Amino acid sequence: MTAPYAATEPAPSPVAYTRPSITELEVSYATDAARNGWGPRCYDYIKRLEAGFAEHLEVAHATATSSCTGAMQLGLAALGIGAGDEVILADTNWIATAAPLVHLGATPVFVDILADSWCIDPSAAEQAITDRTKAIVATHLYGSMCDMDALQALCRRYGIALIEDAAEAIGSAWRGRKAGSMGTFGVFSFHGTKTMTTGEGGMIATRDPELHSRISQLADHGRDPGEPRQFHPTITGYKFKMANVQAAIGCAQLERIDDLIAGKRRVMARYRDLLSGCAGLTLNTEPAGTQNGYWMPNVVFDRDLGITREKLLAAFKAEKIDARVFFWPLSSLPMFESQPQNINAWDIPERAVNLPSFHDMDAATQERVCAVIEGLLPA
Ligand SMILES: *Cc1c(COP(=O)(O)O)cnc(C)c1O
Repeated sequence: MTAPYAATEPAPSPVAYTRPSITELEVSYATDAARNGWGPRCYDYIKRLEAGFAEHLEVAHATATSSCTGAMQLGLAALGIGAGDEVILADTNWIATAAPLVHLGATPVFVDILADSWCIDPSAAEQAITDRTKAIVATHLYGSMCDMDALQALCRRYGIALIEDAAEAIGSAWRGRKAGSMGTFGVFSFHGTKTMTTGEGGMIATRDPELHSRISQLADHGRDPGEPRQFHPTITGYKFKMANVQAAIGCAQLERIDDLIAGKRRVMARYRDLLSGCAGLTLNTEPAGTQNGYWMPNVVFDRDLGITREKLLAAFKAEKIDARVFFWPLSSLPMFESQPQNINAWDIPERAVNLPSFHDMDAATQERVCAVIEGLLPA
């Protein structure tokens, strides 16, 4: 495909998929950490970020980690999940949600998603429960909330853990409670593409003090904080800690969190507005009682329009717009057993696309994105 621009017109500038919002505040905190955050001050920003994030979530405990993937592995390990155990999660997920439990020797059990929220279907989850099931993972996909009432009731009834993967759900809430604050534990990502960033980084939050102390010990090479001997771990732990310089950036982002969320919500609202005249499209939902942080706007095309993922990617690429695929079903990947009976998880990505979204995206850029979509629809 060739771009429809005359040689004299400047080619359109590329549109990024996401990018972080970094101000002088982040730069000044990072600079301070680089200059002064050593020796007795080497944990200052980390402690401040953990305390501030726990307060933001309204939970008792939060531990900063090197990534959300690491946070998930710590939490699963702290729950004692391992060989022979099953963990139920949506087939639609990033690999980071499944890989840690595979590394621990547990079996991921992939179930279908709901057609509207794109999150785990609670009744499919219930049907997948066996006597080996130890947990259900609620991934709040693209910022949409899982049905927490149904999942909490289910997990209580079967005596299993409810884990929230809130990597994509900063700014999302269920009946006023923030994503990641309701489960046995919740994990967050501060990867450079996420709503709040430290470059790489994550967080694990819990209300349970005992679970928190197991997480802290596992996160620090298995060293017991009460152990008087130096360099004397008492269990085999992990090293998934965050650096102070990263935490400094995180502290600045946390001070700006309402703005960061508002930016993402503004982008989604504008897409909704620009696309409101187009028939046959489904966008991210925000049912009554929920708040959606709208980490990633998506558009799903009705099947009868015949607009495929491949057509979508080609059309955006021709306009230098970095749109991305809706997550492949994990069970379609070569390392897992295929589960095509997960109808929605297999069907939706075939006719959907992630739209570019960053906090300060301007109206003209969003109009460019929407023009591609309109160009694909029947006249
Ligand atoms: C980004 C993401 C992760 C992984 O986060 P990292 O910080 O990169 O490890 C996990 N789960 C979901 C749903 C994500 O989107």
